Amino acid sequence: MSSVSTKARSAISPTGSPNHNETADILSSALTRLEAAARHVSIDSDVLEKLRYPKETLSARLMIRMDDGSRRSFLAWRCRYDDTRGPTKGGIRYHPEASMDEVQTLAFWMMCKCAVTNLPYGGGKGAVRVDPHKLSKAELERLSRAYVHAFANMIGPDRDIPAPDVYTNAMIMGWMADEYSSLVGAPCPAVITGKPITLGGSLGRDDATSLGGYYVLNVLAKDLGLQGKQRVAIQGFGNAGWHIARLLHADGHKIVAISDSRGAIANPDGLDPAAVLEAKNRGGSVTAYAEGGKAKTIDPETLIATDCDILVPAALENTITSRNAGSVRARIILELANGPVTPSGDKILQDKKIIVLPDILANAGGVTVSYFEWVQNRQGYYWSLEEVQSKLRVIMEREGRLIWQISRDKDIDVRTAAYVVALERLAKAIEAHGTQNYFAA
Ligand code: NAD
Repeated sequence: MSSVSTKARSAISPTGSPNHNETADILSSALTRLEAAARHVSIDSDVLEKLRYPKETLSARLMIRMDDGSRRSFLAWRCRYDDTRGPTKGGIRYHPEASMDEVQTLAFWMMCKCAVTNLPYGGGKGAVRVDPHKLSKAELERLSRAYVHAFANMIGPDRDIPAPDVYTNAMIMGWMADEYSSLVGAPCPAVITGKPITLGGSLGRDDATSLGGYYVLNVLAKDLGLQGKQRVAIQGFGNAGWHIARLLHADGHKIVAISDSRGAIANPDGLDPAAVLEAKNRGGSVTAYAEGGKAKTIDPETLIATDCDILVPAALENTITSRNAGSVRARIILELANGPVTPSGDKILQDKKIIVLPDILANAGGVTVSYFEWVQNRQGYYWSLEEVQSKLRVIMEREGRLIWQISRDKDIDVRTAAYVVALERLAKAIEAHGTQNYFAA
């Protein structure tokens, strides 16, 4: 395992990338949001200096035996961005285009998200550069166990607590918790969240991200002018995309377009999300639903330009950029994905008066229920689904209202208001150790 420089950042190859500069260094671009928020709060200069760089990032090469007897290695990272407010927390992503810059940025967002929800956590994240669809189930298990071996000294229930992210799931978290427990010689479920229920997972974790976004949308519906039935377009139909489609459809809203990595479908009269899921599971893509004539296939690139009221990006980062933000016709964007809008994309959306409910608020339900899982593991006492969901609702509605109010009071966009809340909480914790004024006095 080697320590890597925080300066050497590689480029990702994002979806919808307009040009290299807009998306190549996503951490610098993410930091601009914190700097924008800093103009609206009074904080010590030490604070931004501390939050500008990740605390530690480790890279490793995971070497595993493949089913055909050969050995292959995979590049992997874990980043602990900042732990002033508590142990770092954040998912592990398996993706063929994962990079260190992306991991550090996702860790930064986790730090902000945990502050927005006021959880006693800092931010962390991990990734393996791999296409998990090309591995057998046994190879995937060996890779997941190898990840824990490589980063065993970095993670821990009081230090850094991973969770699932894109293309990782509950079973993988179960393998990882098992591997960690065998390394420390005792069961240690609190080291990882998002585990299967029988291995210490929490009820309500699977749809927590979407449910959190749904609570925020509902509590602000009146302020957002969202009375009555709305038309919704969803980009990405995995965990986050499916559950938000299900929840909004159940309330009578019309899901008019859905995409995944292989294609997109649309029907202005509405799609049935459960039937779309069934078709995707059968045919490998949401486009299988169009075969019976119940929808037409559309170019996935045009999904964000769908004529609708609410657009939900629920795939990957950097999908709404300076190139395509001008084509958005929705009035509201609910960011379930992390970082789906670039800063230049944001500027265009603001000019068009489109309200963005930002990722660090809108998708924070996932980490909130992960926190509940960790609390339950440490207590050895497990809550009912109703308890989990009512506690989640309290947090999402409280922070959603607070952020909305700040955006109105300060006349700033909702994203900047969310960063104001995060920055104020981070600043209080950092300043509690003493500021320049305190020591120079
Ligand atoms: P997932 O792996 O379950 O699903 C991802 C979906 O996106 C898949 O349907 C995939 O086909 C689709 N996709 C990939 N590239 C696409 C493209 N170019 N266009 C359209 N669709 C595309 O992942 P998930 O857990 O649903 O996560 C989705 C996003 O939400 C990620 O940004 C993730 O970081 C974020 N998020 C997830 C959680 C969670 O608890 N699941 C929590 C917070 C944030």
